[in-house]
Amino acid sequence: MTSIPITADYAKELDTQDSLAAFRERFVFAEPELIYMDGNSLGRLPKDTATLANNLISHQWGTRLIRSWNEGWINTPERIGGKIARLLGAEPDEVIVADSTSINLFKLVLAALRLQQGRKRILTDNLNFPSDLYILQGAINLLDKGHQLEIIDSPDGIYGPADELQASIDEQTALVTLSHTVFKSGYLYDMPAMTAAAHNAGALVLWDLSHSVGSIPVDLHAAQADLAIGCTYKYLNGGPGSPAFLYVRRDLQEKLFNPISGWMGQKDAFAFGLTYSPAPGLLHFLTGTPPMISLSLIEPGVELLLEAGLDNLRAKSIRQSEYLIALWEAVLQPLDVSLNSPRQTERRGSHVSLGHAEGMRIDLTLINDMKVLPDFRAPDNIRLGIAPLYTSFHDIYETVMSLQKIISERLYEKYTDEAPSVT
Ligand SMILES: *Cc1c(COP(=O)(O)O)cnc(C)c1O
Repeated sequence: MTSIPITADYAKELDTQDSLAAFRERFVFAEPELIYMDGNSLGRLPKDTATLANNLISHQWGTRLIRSWNEGWINTPERIGGKIARLLGAEPDEVIVADSTSINLFKLVLAALRLQQGRKRILTDNLNFPSDLYILQGAINLLDKGHQLEIIDSPDGIYGPADELQASIDEQTALVTLSHTVFKSGYLYDMPAMTAAAHNAGALVLWDLSHSVGSIPVDLHAAQADLAIGCTYKYLNGGPGSPAFLYVRRDLQEKLFNPISGWMGQKDAFAFGLTYSPAPGLLHFLTGTPPMISLSLIEPGVELLLEAGLDNLRAKSIRQSEYLIALWEAVLQPLDVSLNSPRQTERRGSHVSLGHAEGMRIDLTLINDMKVLPDFRAPDNIRLGIAPLYTSFHDIYETVMSLQKIISERLYEKYTDEAPSVT
């Protein structure tokens, strides 16, 4: 890697050259001096979202009351799903917003396993998000049909075991399910290659796009992907606990049933018939009444991403992560900080994890004494999320300089390594 000037002026110069820099002003910066490196966990609040929240409460709910269902509310899961589809290389009728990521995984896993009758193997890796593994275990227990979950280990805790997974897929494999971008190291799977390997053996693939959507141009159609799920509160900036999305390729939609068959997925919900009859297309993957406030607030963040363009955002995210890695190499590597993310650009998402034996205490010092907010992922990952809509090069520079100071002056020693309840 070529050496770069390690100065605040150089960081500011990079910000001046950044054609997306103006998008930062579209977000609320309540504490201007705060450096936020956790947009991959909870995205910032867009100003338009704050305005919409007011309107939702005082007008749509406060004034219009139940009339709002016919004034746009009822179609919101499909409308916002259709916009998210544009970030994923999918058709508008292949993505819908509902429930949480964990629940959508449960619905699609049960549907997929039922379609794949007779096949008993489910493949994943040990870098997958733990909730995904818990959901798979719960689904297997519920079905009680002898399915086996095989968790393939990463060779180094950073790269996904892509070759081993591909070699392991066979005619007994029902489903391969992986995080497209893994939450600790940021490793990014080659979606077309893994999907093709699965299809060769007749297996389905379900991608968790939580750490990809909104930061990486995903092309589900080009990859011939079957199923996907993902969060809206990370790079989509939908707000804490905002509902998730699910994708089902069109030709699979009528073949898959929703195991939580509720009235919102019923063909004619307001006929109040007593027998379930699934609505066509993706609509039968809805279950109950959508949480209109948090659902509606997803839309402005998605609009911002569409306006900025995902190719532009990815290009900036790459420039910023390369900048961060260059600073790490010059300043932090000599202080025993490891790079816990892939060095290879095309195999890396939009966050960079740095490792240090005192990671937890360093993290606490960053938060409490430096006004820098990263997050921490056990055992030693200081995870730095780059949200290219609003992260600046100067934010990255300040983060690295703070880390250098904390480690070289051992400022972390005043903290114990007792983790707070949310890290
Ligand atoms: C954040 C995240 C989730 C979260 O799921 P919830 O149901 O919203 O709690 C799931 N999977 C992955 C890969 C994630 O990164």
